[in-house]
Amino acid sequence: MSDSNHLSPADAVKHRNLKNLLDQMTLDEKIAQLIQLAVPFYEGADGDGLITGPMASLGITEETVHNSGSVLGMAGASETINVQRAHLNNNRLGIPLLMMADIVHGFKTIFPVPLAIGCSWDMELAEKSAEIAAKEASVSGVHVTYAPMADLVRDPRWGRVVESTGEDPYLNSEFARAFVRGFQGTDLSGDTDRVAACVKHFAAYGAAEAGRDYNTVDLSDRQMREFYLPAYKAALDEGCEMVMTSFNTVDGIPATGNSKLMRKLLREEWGFDGIIISDWGAVKELIAHGIAADESEAAAKAIKAGVDIEMMTSCYVKHLSELVDAKEVDVALIDEAVLRILTLKQKLGLFDNPYRAADPEREKDIVFCEEHRETARELAVKSCVLLKNEGALPLKGDRSIALIGPFARNGDVLGPWSWTGSKDDAVKLDAGLRSKMSGSLTVADGCGIETATEEQWQEALAAAQAAETIVLALGEHSDMSGEAGCRADIRLPEIQLELVRKIKSLGKPIVVVLFNGRPLDLHGVYEEADAVLEAWYPGSEAGNAIADLLFGDANPEGRLTMSFPYSVGQVPVYYNAYNTGRPQGAPDAQVRYVSQYLDIPNEPLLPFGFGLGYSEFEYGDAALSSEVITKDEQLRVSVTLTNKGSRAGVETVQMYVRDMSGEVVRPVKELKDFRKVALRPGESREIQFTLSEKQLRYYHSDLTHDSDAGAFVAYVGPNSKTNAALPFKLVK
Ligand code: BGC
Repeated sequence: MSDSNHLSPADAVKHRNLKNLLDQMTLDEKIAQLIQLAVPFYEGADGDGLITGPMASLGITEETVHNSGSVLGMAGASETINVQRAHLNNNRLGIPLLMMADIVHGFKTIFPVPLAIGCSWDMELAEKSAEIAAKEASVSGVHVTYAPMADLVRDPRWGRVVESTGEDPYLNSEFARAFVRGFQGTDLSGDTDRVAACVKHFAAYGAAEAGRDYNTVDLSDRQMREFYLPAYKAALDEGCEMVMTSFNTVDGIPATGNSKLMRKLLREEWGFDGIIISDWGAVKELIAHGIAADESEAAAKAIKAGVDIEMMTSCYVKHLSELVDAKEVDVALIDEAVLRILTLKQKLGLFDNPYRAADPEREKDIVFCEEHRETARELAVKSCVLLKNEGALPLKGDRSIALIGPFARNGDVLGPWSWTGSKDDAVKLDAGLRSKMSGSLTVADGCGIETATEEQWQEALAAAQAAETIVLALGEHSDMSGEAGCRADIRLPEIQLELVRKIKSLGKPIVVVLFNGRPLDLHGVYEEADAVLEAWYPGSEAGNAIADLLFGDANPEGRLTMSFPYSVGQVPVYYNAYNTGRPQGAPDAQVRYVSQYLDIPNEPLLPFGFGLGYSEFEYGDAALSSEVITKDEQLRVSVTLTNKGSRAGVETVQMYVRDMSGEVVRPVKELKDFRKVALRPGESREIQFTLSEKQLRYYHSDLTHDSDAGAFVAYVGPNSKTNAALPFKLVK
């Protein structure tokens, strides 16, 4: 079929000749495909599917909206069907809309926030959660999700650490792959229960200076490649269909106008041929950044740098046409972008069935169904991390418990990006506890998240006095993390610390359950409590999952994927850091000129990989199969693990490596592999890892990816603090 044949749009698509369809589009129709508007522009019920009011503020015409290529933030089978139908009635060539939305950790069934999912170290369940999210979203009319967020994070002041899986490039990459597999499956065209994934935010958004959202990022190419880029790359290797740019600058150029990132790295080096979308308003933000004088220059820079779709601003639709006329922008760039968008529409089957899986009847059966909620509960159980336990846990259900705190009966347990879920439908902590108790449960707020009344204090004290054990449910409001949710002081709000002090004065066992979106500075809580369970935002099944853990029906197995700082003054503090040339000091060491703070320790309060459970795991001496590794011969690292406790449990055995004679300085530890091992009481097992030369490669100063002959150390243990060092050599 030659491109010059003039086919009807349907036939063009049927014959897989999108180029022919493209040829039938006017320049304005093409450019309109490149704008993405949010829900306020559309109405579902009737009429022409448009709410014209907000268009004035963007300076765009109704015709542009009728020709636009995609919409953001719409969900619900009836609504999406109506909007698509109205759109098709108004679109000359009958090109369907792509419906995109942030389905980040669940749709109606809300799973734990991504940072919590990270702590499960469970790729299979992570994948399953994304698969369920895709199924629920797809039946509700969503085609593309803006997930996974593959940004590596080190600074808990940044609100968006809650959306990441943590500080390790290897784990982040594994999770990025798992999420993409879950969302997209293996056959996006044939399997309409899946949605296309859009990995974000490219690139290095997580390295915002001082943990302030949208702030400058300036990293060496080596740092970028070693730490920040692997997880995006992993998502793309898994077939991720789209990439979203980030708001920040990278080496002085905003990512959204950065051709080194998009054209050179993504397109040329990595061979990515899917759609690149800007983040919300980021094309126009090139003006505020100071690399474009006006919207026309912003449009020119963004399209030349590689942005296909402009989200929520209108620089493209207002200026690309005149830029083409003035020969400032080659129309080929627009054609390429449109073709990518049409290609995804075709891949999703939208030309055959523009409503795809949207189905109001099936939607009722699928979303928030029992089976999905069971998985949410299972994943929430695995995502919570037991940070401390001096015997207060597990609780006994036949005793009297006072459940006190702003999260005792609060539905704010879904976390950021849960706009499609329902707080009312979430299982609150009090309901979860009550379902397992024969003893008495008294519930009191004690205080709000940031304020308290005298009555609240009194009620809490009375409840505490009457109970044997006190469970304090504390945390951050979910708006205190997430986008633009940065905090300079990452302790719990002062009023909650006061609640801890008041309750502590009663001298009873205190179990603290934390609901929050970042590693906190736990001063005023950690020392005072007998046990601390980090629950993050566990999602729809919050109360049930936490009750499973508190009463010992489940054994905590979560492990931190982001270090908990001793205090905010240490941040960023992360395990895979470089050594200095000086010894690491300590505040009481009374020596000068070492690498130390005079007032706090260097070490975080709780390291990467840390987490407790109700079993007692003992590590035997680790051993290597040989002291030499070569290009062809792998090493085996083995250790015997024994469950010395009285409960069955799961241990996460972690293997780290350090290169002792690198061409450039190497991290003091790098996670290379891990194994989740389930052991019954008294059971022992030998755990084996293999280590190959390939795993020792890294980016050298000239950016080649290679390994160094010479000395290495392997470590095996329960977290990144393990010191069981096993020296070996790489011989090349
Ligand atoms: C966020 C993205 C999100 C987009 C669309 C932006 O403000 O940075 O993560 O996908 O909005 O909702």
